[in-house]
Amino acid sequence: MKCYKCGMPATTFVTTTINGNTTQQYLCDECYRQQQHEFYFHSRQPQPKVKEVVCPQCNTKQSEFLKTGFLGCPNCYKAFEGAIDKLLPKIQGSTTHVPRKHMGVVEEESRTEKLKRLNLQLYKAKMAMDYEQADKIFKQIKELDPK
Ligand SMILES: [Zn+2]
Ligand SMILES: [Zn+2]
Repeated sequence: MKCYKCGMPATTFVTTTINGNTTQQYLCDECYRQQQHEFYFHSRQPQPKVKEVVCPQCNTKQSEFLKTGFLGCPNCYKAFEGAIDKLLPKIQGSTTHVPRKHMGVVEEESRTEKLKRLNLQLYKAKMAMDYEQADKIFKQIKELDPK
């Protein structure tokens, strides 16, 4: 038998199935090696390209964020939403940089501060027996803290 590629004496009989078509080929050592190499080369999947996402507000790249775990601005949350969802369990344990949560805490604190101040004013108004003023403050407190 001769090699189907180069006509040299064939040493290998190869059965290949591509898309359901089976072909039988006689190959010499050299062509067989070459075919194996080509097969390996072509069967390697090209690396899927990851689309780079960039925060439109602060230009932080998603790849940068994935590396560092830090967000450039609160808008990054929206921009990298998909990636963050996947990363969240990892990030929660390693960093405290969570602006959304942080902002909520700040809001909560300022409300508490305001309530403290109003309660003090209410106390003072009552001490001064200024019931009209006390009533006003009381309403403000109820607005902030409707329990
Ligand atoms: Zn050959
Ligand atoms: Zn950003």
